[in-house]
Amino acid sequence: MSLLPENIVNYLFNLDRGERRDRFCRTCGEITSQIAISYSDIPTFRRHEVQRIAGRLLDFVPGMSVLSGRPTVCGGCRTVNR
Ligand SMILES: [Zn+2]
Repeated sequence: MSLLPENIVNYLFNLDRGERRDRFCRTCGEITSQIAISYSDIPTFRRHEVQRIAGRLLDFVPGMSVLSGRPTVCGGCRTVNR
């Protein structure tokens, strides 16, 4: 990973949604191809509009994606991993 400014921004903020990455899936029990999503795309945050907005705001909290892990959805079983 290079240290270009935009990469640092993407690292601090959860803004690179749609990016594909290989990651361990709890459900599959193996490394799978997963897609980065917004916090607002996590089912927990989709029950109510207020929660969806809160999830969207979390994308812009500096360091949030660093501290709690970026949410990704498994391309195989559709489980959300963090
Ligand atoms: Zn999976």
